Amino acid sequence: MMLKEIENRVKDPVRVKAPQSNPLVQALAQFDAATERLHLNPELNAMLRFPKRELTVHFPVRMDDGSVKMFTGYRVQHNVNRGPAKGGIRYDVNVSLDEVQALAMWMTWKCALMNIPFGGAKGGVIVDTRQLSSAELERLTRRYTMEIASIIGPESDIPAPDINTNAQVMAWIMDAYSIQCGRTVPAVVTGKPVSIGGSVGRTEATGRGVFIATREGCRVHGIPLKGARVIIQGFGNVGSVTASLLAQAGCKIVGLADVYGAIYNENGIDVNKALHAIKTSGRLEDVPNVEKLSGSDLLEQPSDILIPAAIAGQLTAANARYIQTKLIVEAANGPTTQEADAIFRERGIPVIPDILANAGGVVVSYFEWVQDLQHFFWSLEEVNTRLEQMMTQSFTAVQAICEEQQCDYRMGAYLIAVARVAEATRIRSLP
Ligand code: GLU
Repeated sequence: MMLKEIENRVKDPVRVKAPQSNPLVQALAQFDAATERLHLNPELNAMLRFPKRELTVHFPVRMDDGSVKMFTGYRVQHNVNRGPAKGGIRYDVNVSLDEVQALAMWMTWKCALMNIPFGGAKGGVIVDTRQLSSAELERLTRRYTMEIASIIGPESDIPAPDINTNAQVMAWIMDAYSIQCGRTVPAVVTGKPVSIGGSVGRTEATGRGVFIATREGCRVHGIPLKGARVIIQGFGNVGSVTASLLAQAGCKIVGLADVYGAIYNENGIDVNKALHAIKTSGRLEDVPNVEKLSGSDLLEQPSDILIPAAIAGQLTAANARYIQTKLIVEAANGPTTQEADAIFRERGIPVIPDILANAGGVVVSYFEWVQDLQHFFWSLEEVNTRLEQMMTQSFTAVQAICEEQQCDYRMGAYLIAVARVAEATRIRSLP
C-alpha cells in the first residue's frame, strides 16, 4: 500500500520538474523578503547581502599510503558588526563556496536572533570523511587550521562543530592554532572536549534546543507531546539527541533516517536500539522490527511533528504537498526551500525555522567562549537553565512579532534578526 502511494507520487510532474535548490539562492531570497517587509533601505540591503570576507584554500595532505592529495576548504565571515564571527566547520563532499556563504549568513541571523554578541561565519572542506583514516582526518584538520589561522581567533572568528566534525576535530584545531600562537588558546573554538576547556552540555545543546523549540511549538499549536508521532530525518549528533529527549517526553518516534536510508514503525522505534545500531554498525537499518524505506519517502509518512535534521534543501516544491504533518521543526540549516515554505503557509503547516530551532548549539558555544575567556566554568544545571531561558525567550519574541505582523515563524525570526544586524551596521556607520 505504502509503496503504491510512493510510486504514484514519483510520477507527479511538479516533483519531476522541481529545481535543485542552491542554499545561497534560498538564503538571499529569505533575506530579501525580510528587508522588503522591514523597508530596509537598498544600501543596507546591499551591505548585508555580501559576506565580509571569504577565504578559499587549496592544501595538500599526506595520506597513509604515502601519497599526497589536494583538498579545498573555505572559511566565510558574513558579518561581524555585532561581534566576532561565529559558526561551524563541516566536512562534506557537497561543500561549495555558495553553500558556505549561505550558512555563514544564516549564522549571522541566528546569533542576532538569540541576541548573543557574534556575527556569522561558516567553514567547510570538500571531503568524504568515510574515506579517511583517523590519522588522515587529523592531518587534514591540522593543515586546514593552518591555512585559515590568519583569520580565526577568539576575538575574530570562532569555529565549532557542524556536519561530520566533532569535539575531537575541535581539539585538533585548538591544538594546531595554539602551537602557532605559542600558548594554549581554548577560546579559538567551541564544542571542544571538556578536558581542554569545553563546556558541559555543549554536545547535546543543539538537540536540546530543538527539543525546547518543538515543545514550545506544540504548546502553541495544541499538539500534546505525549503520544505525538515524530519523524526525524538525520540521526547524527542533533537528530539523535532530539530523538532521545522527545522520546523521554512521551513522543513516539515513528521514523528515523540516516545517510544510508530510513526506518519506520508506526508503533514507535526504540531510540536506545537506534543508538545501539549506530554505535555498533553505524547504520540505522540494523534496528530490528522496522520497515525500511528511502530517506525522502520517510518525510512523506504521516506524523504530528516532522524534524529535518540532516542537510539543506530537503523540503521542496517537489514534496511539500505530500508532507503529512502538523508541525515542522528545522534542526538542519536550510532544509526548507522558499517554494516549500509558501506551500506550507498555504496548507497551514507551521515551520519553526532553523535560525530559531537549532540555535541551542551556538548559544551554548557562546557560554563556552565566555567560560574560556573568564577561566571560570559552569555546572550542567547552569548551562541548561540558561539555554532554556534563551530559547524560550527567543521563541516568545518570535511568536509575538508573528502575531503582530501576521507572518510565519521564519519571517518573524528574520524581522528580529535582520533589524538587529541592520541597526548595528547603521550605528557603526561607514568609515
Ligand atoms: N554548527 C552549528 C550551527 O550551525 C553551531 C555553530 C557554533 O556553535 O558556532 O549552528
